[in-house]
Amino acid sequence: MNDDCIFCKIIKGEIPSYTIYENDEVKAFLDINPVTNGHCVIVPKSHIKDMEGMNQQINSKIEEAALSIYKIYKEKLNLDGLTRIQNNGYGQEVKHYHMHLIPRYENDNIYTNRCPENLIPVEEVFNKVK
Ligand code: 5GP
Ligand code: ZN
Repeated sequence: MNDDCIFCKIIKGEIPSYTIYENDEVKAFLDINPVTNGHCVIVPKSHIKDMEGMNQQINSKIEEAALSIYKIYKEKLNLDGLTRIQNNGYGQEVKHYHMHLIPRYENDNIYTNRCPENLIPVEEVFNKVK
């Protein structure tokens, strides 16, 4: 637990949240500022900052939660798809590992941005595998 962490406070119940899934290791709750209807985050109950601090056991618990929520969402929310996002470093507002589940609806237009020109060519960083 980290006293300054907003998700640790949610896990401890010091800040209210709408919990949709919970067990000893993970918790999922609705995002306070949803991108689409049903947007939630799944978090480990231990304070892990980002993907570098993750381990297989917690990862599999997060996968289990994601699958379970996906099945319920498919049945009840009439969604067309589900996008998972997990930010590390830039783009990560809350420094407690979390997996976003973002229900997708046809024409929701959540992705409007495309890669600008003049980046370091990825082809120069990796050798082609095949
Ligand atoms: P990040 O940018 O770190 O990947 O995403 C953090 C997410 O946490 C954001 O989508 C934001 O809306 C959500 N969030 C931040 N503070 C709270 C809070 O107090 N309660 C809930 N339910 N979500 C929060
Ligand atoms: Zn935390």
